[in-house]
Amino acid sequence: MNIKEELVSEIASIVGEDNCSTRIADLYTYGFDSSIHHHDPDVVVRPRSTSEVAQLVSLAAREGIPVVPRGGGTGLCGAAVPIHGGMVMDLTRMDVIKEVRVNDLYCVVQAGVVYDRLNEALAPYRFFFPPTPGSGEACTIGGMVATNASGMRAVKYGATRDYVLGLEVVLADGSIIHVGTNTIKNSSGYQLERLFVGSEGTLGVITEVTLKVAPRPKSSAMVLAAFDRLEDAGACVSNLISVPLIPSATELMDDICIRAVNKAVRAGLPDVQAICMIEVDGEPDIVSKELRTVEEVARRSGASTVQVSEDAKQMARWTSARKSVMSALSRLGDDLVSVSLADDMAVPISRIPEAVVAFHRIAEENHVIVGTYGHAADGNLHTKMLLDPCSEEAWRRGERAVGQIFDTVISLGGTVTGEHGVGMSKAPYMMRERPDAWGTMMKLKKALDPQNIMNPGKLMQWEGGIICHLRYPCPDLSSSR
Ligand SMILES: Cc1cc2nc3c(=O)[nH]c(=O)nc-3n(C[C@H](O)[C@H](O)[C@H](O)COP(=O)(O)OP(=O)(O)OC[C@H]3O[C@@H](n4cnc5c(N)ncnc54)[C@H](O)[C@@H]3O)c2cc1C
Repeated sequence: MNIKEELVSEIASIVGEDNCSTRIADLYTYGFDSSIHHHDPDVVVRPRSTSEVAQLVSLAAREGIPVVPRGGGTGLCGAAVPIHGGMVMDLTRMDVIKEVRVNDLYCVVQAGVVYDRLNEALAPYRFFFPPTPGSGEACTIGGMVATNASGMRAVKYGATRDYVLGLEVVLADGSIIHVGTNTIKNSSGYQLERLFVGSEGTLGVITEVTLKVAPRPKSSAMVLAAFDRLEDAGACVSNLISVPLIPSATELMDDICIRAVNKAVRAGLPDVQAICMIEVDGEPDIVSKELRTVEEVARRSGASTVQVSEDAKQMARWTSARKSVMSALSRLGDDLVSVSLADDMAVPISRIPEAVVAFHRIAEENHVIVGTYGHAADGNLHTKMLLDPCSEEAWRRGERAVGQIFDTVISLGGTVTGEHGVGMSKAPYMMRERPDAWGTMMKLKKALDPQNIMNPGKLMQWEGGIICHLRYPCPDLSSSR
């Protein structure tokens, strides 16, 4: 679709010339998120207020133009890629932290506030917003709500959805609604704020969020346990939970991820089949007690070495090594890049050993390199495939492996996405996972967006395969771009 010049002028009159662009470079740049996909929009807008968002959406509704809300563009499954062109709405100028009320356990922020910035603002009050996504320095609160983001602390502190008390949303007709409350408890009718969690921009534009906040733990400590068998590392995680002991984080990395991180950032991690980094937090005496339990469970589960640290610098080094996995994998092989395919499954915690072993077998059978890591204590595993992005054969092998990985996850009672969302990259498998939810999702979409202008073609509306709209110049796949 091409947007007429008069319309671009009308858009510019709402947000100002500087915040409306049809320059080729901007359209190209805003055609990406952090996934394998790309498609140019027709216009990029950067509103500053809810009123501007409402005017822009009203105009889009009048003209039947697709609207794709966008936060930090860190999404990994193509959810913010405007596959039908139209208007990409960058919300990062809406970055005001409007209220911090720790005595009421909440804060109110505009959707474009970046996760780390919010936690910097909450730190002096000794509170925090806990989900801790790996992308915290760039992702926005609006994007986190729209994907139900979470991270390494979800096992103890939950995901974004557990903190959303209320929302301001601009609906597809341009009207502004307020859902939820500023109270910790609320039984006041349908919990509509939950409807927008995980909606990936398909039901409206989230402009403001009321978030519950949590007190910061007073202290923390970490154990780094090394294993000669991947399945022992998986078993360690569920052995820990069944003590019972709920760690604040448990990060598992297999040998491929360890090698990649040691090569790329000289992390000095043990050269073994798998490691678990286990963090406990809370009151200092409880942390010391739990640390001993973690050490004992790790040894009982078959750890060959166990290192313990309460030193903030050492813990930061380990955490930073884990955070660098994604980028490090791309530097493991000369012609290979790490791509987000089947990157974010979750299984019941006790099924982790079976899942990680199955992923390795599937990789071997399909001749693809798969690095497995993740926040294992909440059942969430990431896999990244290393492949030559210019080879159709490599993509096809990857696609086959993805299908088998997702079939395994579904058969283990899991979900194809634990935190990154669906977008396009997981859409066909989401339908396989929940065939009976599809109809209800479609009805909700039609009721709230009858013209289908909000991020059209995503989630349950996606009809293609996953190797499509590729950002890479793969000549044999150019017809699917
Ligand atoms: C290095 C790296 C590490 C990551 N680690 C994690 C992790 O640990 N945990 C995790 O959950 N995710 C992780 N992610 C994925 C990503 O950061 C999250 O999905 C994040 O929540 C996306 O936020 P964003 O602001 O970048 O949203 P975008 O990518 O801009 O958008 C994502 C989706 O949300 C919609 N959206 C954005 N803003 C709004 C709004 N205001 N209203 C309505 N819809 C909106 C978009 O239309 C799109 O569908 C990681 C990504 C990277 C690149």
